[in-house]
Amino acid sequence: MTAALCLNCGEMKFGVLLPCPKCKTTGIAPMEIGIAFSDHHYTNDTLRQLGIVIKEINTHCDDPMKCLLVFLHYISQKVPDCPPLDLEVEEAQEIKSILAKCKLPNVVFEESER
Ligand SMILES: [Zn+2]
Repeated sequence: MTAALCLNCGEMKFGVLLPCPKCKTTGIAPMEIGIAFSDHHYTNDTLRQLGIVIKEINTHCDDPMKCLLVFLHYISQKVPDCPPLDLEVEEAQEIKSILAKCKLPNVVFEESER
């Protein structure tokens, strides 16, 4: 079974396409983003740390799609080979201001062996 990160609530779940046991959401992100945050790509430890990031972002923002954008913006700053987000200037500013309010852990990005 694939261990994956729920991009909606930050809990770990099994199977990229299966609903999250906590928030019941199947996936708010496109499939390839879901796979990028599974143990096909990162270690369980890294995924758990990224879950903490998602939970922190969620405490500062109520809109799930916006939370996802904030998270992806955070990732694009941390992961060099991540393509930059294509955002409107206003939207980018809002996302940066949400991110600035978050107290984020220092995530260690470990790629999985698979
Ligand atoms: Zn969830």
